[in-house]
Amino acid sequence: MKALEDKIRTEGSLLPGAVLKVSSFLNHQIDADFMMQMGREFAAKFGDTGVSKILTIESSGIPLAFAAGAALHVPVLFAKKHLSSNVTGMLYQTLVHSYTHGSDYTVVVEREYLHPDDRVLIIDDFLANGNAIEGMLDLIAQAGAETVGVGVAVEKGFQEGGTMLRARGLRVEPLAYITKMDEDGIEFGQPDFE
Ligand code: 5GP
Repeated sequence: MKALEDKIRTEGSLLPGAVLKVSSFLNHQIDADFMMQMGREFAAKFGDTGVSKILTIESSGIPLAFAAGAALHVPVLFAKKHLSSNVTGMLYQTLVHSYTHGSDYTVVVEREYLHPDDRVLIIDDFLANGNAIEGMLDLIAQAGAETVGVGVAVEKGFQEGGTMLRARGLRVEPLAYITKMDEDGIEFGQPDFE
């Protein structure tokens, strides 16, 4: 998605540990119009999958998943990191290693919101080593539901997550695919589907 590549070039900055900071529109402040535009891109990519539900993890995935859900007209479920008093009932839960925090955390979804007949599209902001996506795949498997695809705003193709997921036959579609990022700049490309 050219508009996303342009936005990353003009507004993104690099942080230590191969972290791209895009807090002006995606991870802290939200560009609502642009978010809806990205949602429509996901709808164009996954509209043929018979998706019945979108799954993401709080909090950065939520606006993107919401935009995709609005475009695809399906409910959006987000896995929760915090067991607040309004999380009741039976849960599916899994452990996720956080790329940006460097620690593990548990995420849960209530069983009543994920069913064996669901066709689930996973949406997240970034794909790096694939741990967040793995966690969501585990929740979907626990529910006996089917994963129809994985949509991410940004895939860092120089990290292993996308290759690993595609090798298992999953359809993984990034809106922007970064092949290289360093002090000389950011380079974009296309995933190798072989
Ligand atoms: P993974 O689990 O694929 O290793 O990392 C994906 C998760 O880590 C995403 O949900 C995102 O929150 C965070 N993340 C990974 N890489 C980056 C990055 O370069 N920039 C930002 N802002 N978040 C990232």
